[in-house]
Parts: sequence; C-alpha cells; structure tokens
Amino acid sequence: MVRVSRVHPDSIAAELGIEPGTELRSVNGREIADFLDWEFLTADEELVIEARLPNGDDVVFEVERAEREAMGVDLEPPTIRRCANRCEFCFIEGLPKGLRKPLYIRDDDYRLSFAYGNFATLSNLKDRDFERILEYRLSPLYVSVHATPWEARKVLLNNPRVPDIVAQLKRLTAGGIQFHGQMVVVPGLNDGVVLEQSLTDLWAFGDACISVAMVPVGLTQFSHLFTGRSMDRPMALKLLETSERWADRAMAERGHAWVFGSDELYLLAGRELPPAEYYGEFPQIENGVGSVSALRERVRSHADELPWLGQLRVGVVTGTSMAPLMPELLDQLAGVTGVEFTLIATENSMFGPTTTTAGLLVGADISRALADRQLDLALIPAETINESGVFLDDVRFDDLRKSFGFPVHPSYDFIDVLGEPEQFLSREAAIVVAR
Ligand code: SF4
Repeated sequence: MVRVSRVHPDSIAAELGIEPGTELRSVNGREIADFLDWEFLTADEELVIEARLPNGDDVVFEVERAEREAMGVDLEPPTIRRCANRCEFCFIEGLPKGLRKPLYIRDDDYRLSFAYGNFATLSNLKDRDFERILEYRLSPLYVSVHATPWEARKVLLNNPRVPDIVAQLKRLTAGGIQFHGQMVVVPGLNDGVVLEQSLTDLWAFGDACISVAMVPVGLTQFSHLFTGRSMDRPMALKLLETSERWADRAMAERGHAWVFGSDELYLLAGRELPPAEYYGEFPQIENGVGSVSALRERVRSHADELPWLGQLRVGVVTGTSMAPLMPELLDQLAGVTGVEFTLIATENSMFGPTTTTAGLLVGADISRALADRQLDLALIPAETINESGVFLDDVRFDDLRKSFGFPVHPSYDFIDVLGEPEQFLSREAAIVVAR
C-alpha cells in the first residue's frame, strides 16, 4: 500500500475523488508495495485501482486514459531501506552528534539508486528485488562497488555476509540492466592489485558498465570507526595514473573515457583537471566527477552574456579545496561585468579542516565568513542548502540572509545570479543595468 500526499488539480486522480490520505492498494490485481509499483503498474491505459479513502471507504476505480496522461498524485515518501554494512569510512559515521535525524539514515536502497542516482551497494538485495529490477528494467543503477574481489569487499564494507558483487552484477546485466560504478578508494584496502582487479572485472561487463568513478576516502574529524590510512598526495597521484591508464584504453577501444578520477582526487594530487570534453555527458557529475570542469565551461561559454554591473563589491564564499581554482574564474567574470570580487575561502567548523568541499559548509560557517564584510552582494554555494532551505546545521537560509545588510544568494555557477541582476539590485538599478 502507498498513501497519497497530494492530488494535482484537474488531474485524473482529482476527477476520481482521490484525496490526500487515500491508500492505493492494488492496480489491475497486483498489490502496490511502493512508489515503483505505482509508477510501473499504472503505465497501462486501462486500470482497475483498489483504494481506501481517508474516511475508511473501500473503492474500486476503473480508469481509461490517454497514453502518458499522468494520474496526478504525489505519494508519501517511501520507507528507506537501511544499509546492512558498517564501512569504517562511512560518511554518516563521520557526522557530529546533534544533527537532524534524517541525516543519520544510512540508506542502501536500489529504488533510490534508480530514481535519484543514490549509490547502493546491493548487499541487501533479495531474490524478489532482483525480480523487480529486471521486470521494471530499473536501469541504469548506481552501484557502490568499491572492490570486486569478494574478500576485499567484505573487509571494506565491514560485513562478512556481503554477497559477491560480480555474481550480482552478472545476474542484473544478463537481464539488460546497465550500471554506473563507484570505487571509494581506501589506501591499503582497495588500491593496488585490488583496484586493478576491480577495474578488470568491471571492464569485462562491456557497455553494461557505463562509467566508473574513483573517489578518495573522505573522512571528517568524527570518523571514529576508521582505523586505516587516509588519502595523501602520492596516493592520489598513483590512483590518477591508474584511472588515466584505463581511460586511455577505454578511449581507444570504446570512444569514451569510462573511468574517471573525482575532482577531489585531482585537487588532492595537485593535478590540472581534464577539460570538459573529457567527461562526455558528465555521467557522474553528481558524484563530484567533472563538476569543476563543467563550471569552468559554463563560465567560459556564458560570461559574455552577462551585463556590465559596474563597481559592485561581490563576496564569494567557497570551501578551501575550490579556493585555489576560483581566481581564474572570477577574473573572467570581473573582466566582463566590472565586478570587484572578494574570494572568501572558508574552513568547515562542523566536520573539521579535513572536510574541504564547498557544498558541506554549514550555516555557521557562512555567517562567520560574511560577518563584518562591506559588500553589495554575497554568493554562497547553492549545494549547502537543501530543498527546504536549511543548512546541514539546521540554520535556515531565510534567517541567515536577513542577518546581513547586503543580499546573499545561493549560486551554482555565478551565471545563474549575475545574469539576473533584478535578483539582487533594486528594480530601478536593474533596469539601468539591463539597458
Ligand atoms: S554502504 Fe557503507 S558507506 Fe554506505 S551507508 Fe552503508 S556503511 Fe555507510
């Protein structure tokens, strides 16, 4: 059963009398267990839907609808499938105490892997799950592989009962499922021969393995389970040598790079990042692979469209790892807009100085970074705020922005804010700029 949270106006569901709180129980005789069942079983044009209305009445709806016409319901969020592993490097284990509860949920859910690109280890898959993945063709999946040699993977996931990932992937790919793989590399555990073997095994899946990301283990000052070595520059260089060697082979044989070092790996190694073309369709940009190059490309190709903004003083808050890359971008933007930028590299007070990513800065960091600044505008990393407008430390963006005497805007790529001056200038000033 799934429960309706919202009914879209003028939709089929509204016409049927479905209301928020209605339980959707079966479609064409098949039980609805979650959003996937609802999504896939309602793909037909003729439907018999069994439901229970909020007043307790059981009803049967018979629906005939045009192809692709949406039913028009939002469902309550699914119960997340929890992770059965206990990786020493788990980011959740590296969170400080006292944050809001949902942040501590260790999800390992193939459904979210398909629907939202969350990485899943597949270690909690049952036969029934395989059947659903194959029946509904949940492809591509995003799989935390980490290591293909079974023993090494058991150690990495800290779970002696973890299934053999190669056998699992064979079962899925034989049924036409494709996947993106991720290798979080922990020095001493899955570098060297384990990494080489893993890439060899993944390569053998051919086109079914669409891409592989190599990500350095990321630890915070609270990563209490971790007993191994952390990533350092020589190790990052070595990993890039491996990923680029495989990427050269993939380029030659398959026409795309296939395996990518994450941006963080390049930054740790002190190496120049590849150009945007290297990443093709940016298959793992959400995983921090190619996002710097994508940003550079976006600024390069859109800076000329920005208006002249004059002597505006703009503060740019970022994490310590991105800070060295910013001057080049800000110089380009200053050249076309006339803006005077102040780069504000900010340490992470919640996770500690080893966490250098801009997107993990918390509200307190932003407040500290902007305190006592004389600015006309501040840009902060948009990734620091969730869809409810809240930072990781529960500070609300709306409260934070009101505490400054200048506008504060979340920005993904500068162009999104500087290109729309009416967002931060008075109406009259924006009209003058637009002219
Ligand atoms: S698979 Fe490992 S890293 Fe992912 S949530 Fe589970 S314990 Fe954490």
